[in-house]
Amino acid sequence: MDKKTFLKYGHEFVDWIADYFENIEDFPVLAQVEPGDVSSQLPVSPPDNSESMEAIFNDFKQIILPGITHWQHPSFFAYFPANNSEPSVLAEFLIAALGAQCMVWQTSPSATELEEVVMEWLRKMLGLPEKFKGVIQDTASTSTLCALLCAREKSTNFRINDTGFSGEEVQNLTVYTSEESHSSVEKGVKIAGFGRRSLRLIPADETFAMIPEELEKAILADQREGRIPCCVVATVGTTSSTGIDPLDSIGRICEKHGLWLHVDAALAGTAAVLPKMRYILDGIELADSFVFNPHKWLFTNFDCSAFYCRDTKALTSTFEILPEYLKTGLDRRVNNFRDWGIPLGRRFRALKLWFVIRHYGVKGLQEKIQSHLDLAGEFESWVIKEPGFEVLAPVVLNLVCFRYHPTDRTYSEDELEKINKDLMDSINRSGKMFITHTKLKGKFSLRLSIGQTNTEREHVAKAWEHIKSMAGERG
Ligand code: PLP
Repeated sequence: MDKKTFLKYGHEFVDWIADYFENIEDFPVLAQVEPGDVSSQLPVSPPDNSESMEAIFNDFKQIILPGITHWQHPSFFAYFPANNSEPSVLAEFLIAALGAQCMVWQTSPSATELEEVVMEWLRKMLGLPEKFKGVIQDTASTSTLCALLCAREKSTNFRINDTGFSGEEVQNLTVYTSEESHSSVEKGVKIAGFGRRSLRLIPADETFAMIPEELEKAILADQREGRIPCCVVATVGTTSSTGIDPLDSIGRICEKHGLWLHVDAALAGTAAVLPKMRYILDGIELADSFVFNPHKWLFTNFDCSAFYCRDTKALTSTFEILPEYLKTGLDRRVNNFRDWGIPLGRRFRALKLWFVIRHYGVKGLQEKIQSHLDLAGEFESWVIKEPGFEVLAPVVLNLVCFRYHPTDRTYSEDELEKINKDLMDSINRSGKMFITHTKLKGKFSLRLSIGQTNTEREHVAKAWEHIKSMAGERG
């Protein structure tokens, strides 16, 4: 592409993005397409000859855009936030333009050193222990897998890396997490070779937090049967309901029995940017590793997962490889982040985090996070006051779990599930907002998660009116 064309479309795309942000509320939040609608409009084979950028961009607008669910819409209340911001998007332009592979210090010294600096900034912003050293991974799933691999290696004196699993070891090492933890824990346990049968799901209490006494009972039972308890994955901010596992009690149990403690705070870690919310991480000094995702709630577009580890020697011993072609004369003096995780090639993600933190400042970030917490609290108070609705889990962060529960007669759980599922589907079909669901102790629950960058009180108030009116239409 010549420079003139690049400039023309560069400017046009920036204009388009600015308009998109400004007019995003004109789009239906949830894509209103059926399976196959998008692919049926695309050629089955690639073009032999060059096509114009005008034609490509037109197809983006006509074919691709209708099949997009608008995560940056301020009425996006589904799953969890994956918010972005203008400084993050601008940084992403530069990251793409540099196209740097940040695998070792030499392949882009600025990338490694900026990553060290912003991870230290983030550590301080969340009040994490000084011993924690951070690295950016693509996702929390990868970070948790790294923690599991590290725990596996440390507990076997780095032998499995060397000799592979023997049948006996496969059956012996055990991992513990709560029944409310994210599916990435089970996935990590499968990939790291522990096997799903070695994963113990510890019961959660009525606040959806792991019960420490049950954890210790499970560890003792495994020890009695000759197994080797290896790792606990605790969750701060469970996906279904933002339940908070008590790190302090869990950490002491891990210390007593010699287990690695990994903390998954993928969403909730961001809340700790507010000093008054740091209580959710009480006991974090007992953890061996910790993950939270700036790509969820910290205005940094996907992907950017902050992974911290106390014993970085264990981390690098688990992952290091040193083929001749990657050796440099500086290897003893610098961090080579390829040895802090799974992939060799790494994107320059630190740049967007740097842009975001500098653009908002810690105070600006705190204000935005606080506003989301306030809105969740306000929505909860509306639900509590409204006859025929009920809150199904404590609201500690930015998520409200609730359901419609008509009072005209007694409804079975199955009937309530159908009523709420139908309500959710009609709300989402309207395109005005998007919510999703979960099950809490067997009860079908709607989830309203607040965390999109531009969500204001008016959006949450409109959502509540919409939910009530759709429920009213159902009778
Ligand atoms: N852990 C928790 C608690 C989550 O809520 C999620 C996603 O919702 C994940 C892990 C997975 O995050 P990622 O998509 O970054 O792997």
